[in-house]
Amino acid sequence: MKDSNCIFCKIANGEIPSRTIEENDMFRVVLDVGPATKGHALILPKDHYRNLFDLPEETAAEAIKMAKKVALKMKDKLGCDGVNIVQNNEEAAGQTVFHFHMHVIPRYKEDGQVIGWRPGQPTGEELDAIAEELK
Ligand code: 5GP
Ligand code: ZN
Repeated sequence: MKDSNCIFCKIANGEIPSRTIEENDMFRVVLDVGPATKGHALILPKDHYRNLFDLPEETAAEAIKMAKKVALKMKDKLGCDGVNIVQNNEEAAGQTVFHFHMHVIPRYKEDGQVIGWRPGQPTGEELDAIAEELK
């Protein structure tokens, strides 16, 4: 299913031109126009899903397979030293385009890019309580 108001639906289905680096029946993989590093790509399903919360399991499984393929290609063709897979869900988590996408970000030694979080310092008891809550 597509959403006629969604820019990533239009990109994924070729209605808006993009710099495509991989494509199959389920996904188009394009370069991000605001890249964190050289080669930063987005895996876009051709069907519209808002994010991980409503992504079918089969599409999720195929997305990670595509991420592996793209990561290997980046290593081979760009000579990157590492890769981050980033996937944001909902505004609180930094999602800005509400069509599921997976970022594949090649990393280069000393590329100066920061992708991360400030580590907390919970006590063992606090971690135990959270683990209970999530079981
Ligand atoms: P989010 O923050 O939702 O995880 O990431 C959205 C990403 O989409 C950003 O990295 C942004 O640069 C990228 N982006 C936004 N609009 C376009 C577009 O029209 N084309 C492409 N290729 N990337 C886009
Ligand atoms: Zn969409």
